[in-house]
Amino acid sequence: MQLQIKQYQPKPTRIPSKCFLTLMLLMLIAGREIKCEAQMRLFVLGKDAGWLLCKFVDDEVLIPYGEWLKEVAKDVEEVKGNALRIKCHDGKCIELRPFSTEAVVEEKSVKLQYPPELKDGKLYLPIRSLCELLNFGFTYDSKTGVGYICALLSSVDIKQSGAGWLLDVSLSSNVSYNIERLSAPERIYIDAHHCLIIPTKYGEVIGRHGSIARVRIGQYSSSPPIARVVVDTDGRLAWDDKTEKDENGKANKIRILIHDALASEASKGKVNAVKLEKLDGRVKGLITAEGAFRWRTFTLSDPYRVVVDFRNCELMIQPGSCEIPKNDIVKEVRVGTPEVDGEIVARVVFELFKPVRYRVIDKRADGLVSVEFGGSRLANATIVLDPGHGGHDPGAMSPPSMFVKRLIEKELTLDIATKLQRLLTSAGVNVIMTRSGDYYVSLQDRVNLANSVNATAFISIHINSYPIQGGKRGTETYYFTPQSERLAAIIHRHMISTLQLPDNGIRRRGFFVLRNTTIPAVLVEVCYINHPSDGALLMDEQFRERVATAIFNGINEYLSQF
Ligand SMILES: [Zn+2]
Repeated sequence: MQLQIKQYQPKPTRIPSKCFLTLMLLMLIAGREIKCEAQMRLFVLGKDAGWLLCKFVDDEVLIPYGEWLKEVAKDVEEVKGNALRIKCHDGKCIELRPFSTEAVVEEKSVKLQYPPELKDGKLYLPIRSLCELLNFGFTYDSKTGVGYICALLSSVDIKQSGAGWLLDVSLSSNVSYNIERLSAPERIYIDAHHCLIIPTKYGEVIGRHGSIARVRIGQYSSSPPIARVVVDTDGRLAWDDKTEKDENGKANKIRILIHDALASEASKGKVNAVKLEKLDGRVKGLITAEGAFRWRTFTLSDPYRVVVDFRNCELMIQPGSCEIPKNDIVKEVRVGTPEVDGEIVARVVFELFKPVRYRVIDKRADGLVSVEFGGSRLANATIVLDPGHGGHDPGAMSPPSMFVKRLIEKELTLDIATKLQRLLTSAGVNVIMTRSGDYYVSLQDRVNLANSVNATAFISIHINSYPIQGGKRGTETYYFTPQSERLAAIIHRHMISTLQLPDNGIRRRGFFVLRNTTIPAVLVEVCYINHPSDGALLMDEQFRERVATAIFNGINEYLSQF
């Protein structure tokens, strides 16, 4: 299982555990706000400021004033009454006084959640509040006792520039960064070091721009803090680093130019052909197009029509050239070039005998946009499959001595998910995989994908392990949100009846992928990798096929009642 890997979840500072009991006691006695002291190692924009004796109060940390402050301020001046006057890099002036919850910022009073304190002539500064005023971030790792003052990622913007896209990542301070490429699927990522994402940008996704499928923003790591911007591309796109760096190679605006012929308005798209295809109970309209096309679709009634408008496109289809096979859904296909919002569009109209469900599948990499009409609930669903782990994260493993070939969770989950993908796809389901090979995808990226594709459900596949070898076997199904419970119950029932494994029940747990997905989400723990009987089953391809079938039947039943 090992689900919580390198994931950042904004959480309040934990009070070191040794303080906790004392704290509770003191609270009982005193009934007022309590602090405890502990050493914290402070890093300021990656620079080690050493161990400092800090005070922990609720979710605030009071840090003794020292040289470290000069790393994030332009100038610091000690003024009368043990107060501090801090000049920020943006010219702002902040004044803090001991035991006063009022800070003076540009001669205006700003309320602090917790006041600075004075002890033995030393001034302690409430670091979260101060960072907020200075436009920096702060995060504390209670496991390692390390605190980080870091830059904030405030925005990511993309705009067209010649035959490419300019991507700007704005940060509150100069930090180091790197830009890398990953394949399968093709993507470019930018890591901003010593950087946290502002909460409102957390998990933001920017939609398609030409060959850029999407841009995702996530916290790759919180200790040390690394903010990551991932650019998913249809194919391999070249880029140039256009960042203006300081003498240390750092920057507060990372700018890259991603080359993409589709970005240029000059390369107009073409809508080349439209064809109808009959499938069991469904009809598919296949529209071939090329270049920088954008489409939108809407319906008109009386007669019922589904309209697909292509912008920035020339219409190359001759009217009346589309043959209509004998069917009871699509009556006629027409084309035209009406003006919409001052722009000539290439329009394809499907006139239907009666209103039916339809969905548009954009496969622009293949130069194809298809509109599927009719079909079952299943045929109109999008399911996100999430094979657990991958890449440098193998997940659980069978003990080396248990089987000839060691079982590795990441391989099994991918195999089962791929089998399930095949079953779903042949039933007409649009399947999106969070990974389709042996590479690492963060939990946040998995969640972002699931939340961004308008999917019907999210199914995460894992293999369990028990601390004691051979100590436990059987199947568990997890869910978190109330909307996910029914899906979990149905899938679990199919798992138990198909696989005949011990029934460990459905359980409500706040796993990252379950807690953060906005659609019905379920996590299946097929069985135990380090149990001899379960392990032997996992080794059998037929068994893995049965697991895929069980989940498939569960999804099918769920959708048919939905
Ligand atoms: Zn797992």
